[in-house]
Amino acid sequence: MTLLEDKTPNRTPLSKLGEFGLINHLSKDFELKNETSIFGIGDDCAVIDVGHHFQLLTTDMLIEGVHFDLTYTPLKHLGYKSVVVNLSDIYAMNGLPRQITVSIALSNRFPLEAVEELYEGIRLACTAYNVDLVGGDTTSSTSGLCLSITAVGEVAKDKIVYRSGAKEHDLIVVSGDLGSAYLGLQILNREKQVFVSDSKMQPDLQNKDYILQRQLKPEARKDVIDLFKSKAIIPTSMIDISDGLSSELLHLCANSKVGCAIYEQKIPIDYMAISTAEEFNISAATCALNGGEDYELLFTISQSHYDAIKDNRDLTIIGHITDVTLGSVLVTEDENHQPLTAQGWNSIT
Ligand code: ADP
Ligand code: MG
Repeated sequence: MTLLEDKTPNRTPLSKLGEFGLINHLSKDFELKNETSIFGIGDDCAVIDVGHHFQLLTTDMLIEGVHFDLTYTPLKHLGYKSVVVNLSDIYAMNGLPRQITVSIALSNRFPLEAVEELYEGIRLACTAYNVDLVGGDTTSSTSGLCLSITAVGEVAKDKIVYRSGAKEHDLIVVSGDLGSAYLGLQILNREKQVFVSDSKMQPDLQNKDYILQRQLKPEARKDVIDLFKSKAIIPTSMIDISDGLSSELLHLCANSKVGCAIYEQKIPIDYMAISTAEEFNISAATCALNGGEDYELLFTISQSHYDAIKDNRDLTIIGHITDVTLGSVLVTEDENHQPLTAQGWNSIT
């Protein structure tokens, strides 16, 4: 009998730990032994001392049926997105990406032309973000497509930004708008269901361009990192929004040992996302707080930088950092103070 088959009661289901519980549990007995390993697990990238700067390292795996659905995801978009989500983690440390490696597992369901499409998307992202494809691995899969990308970047030692530097009274800022990628996914899933029940029906994707693009072909916020440089701003903490604003803000607060107050009515949400949320009879703010895959940057800055960002329409101050004893609070539109929670979508509805 193997461990996997053993059904005795003391086997622990992974669902009991959750993703972050599992990572903590598995990694707790690993110590950093090398002086060059500056930071290991627990931020957007690992940090390695390579001499005159720090090297940043991050990796992400995308699995067909879990992270993407090829019935509505063009392979070119998938290639592009899979690079962008890695680069976003490099920008979240205030760094610049330089190289990627791409590892793929393919089944014989994929002809050469399909893999070429995937790589065309990867190439477009490499061009757009000025990164080089420098290696990878290719293997076979018995079922779906698996894609694992690793990105390497660099940052000046005195410019690196961790999740852990937020201080009381700092301003909490997000780039762009939130919730659109999640609502784009809801549209794609709805139209897929319609198609499955009647293959003669054409998908109704009219007037949804922006939110579909946010789901299928997101961009990483290199422009925000460039802006920090031009305005001589170094955020006190930063993270990219892959899992939803609530979850990422709780990471920043936990790592920085602070509390926060954010204001629901200040959360930037695109009008198309608002009208789509109404169509689905769900709250647009909840999509922004818990939806995920926006790949915007969430960061904190000292109040002294207020003037430098206050007129930037692409950056929104959504709240401020408080003392840890005050907890992490969402002030709703009707002035209710609620504790922020990192809910998955399923636990909300
Ligand atoms: P992000 O959302 O920014 O990509 P994750 O939530 O995926 O970050 O990961 C959180 C941290 O845990 C990162 O530092 C990541 O490198 C680390 N991590 C994730 N999975 C594992 C694993 N299986 N073993 C070791 N470290 C891991
Ligand atoms: Mg991240």
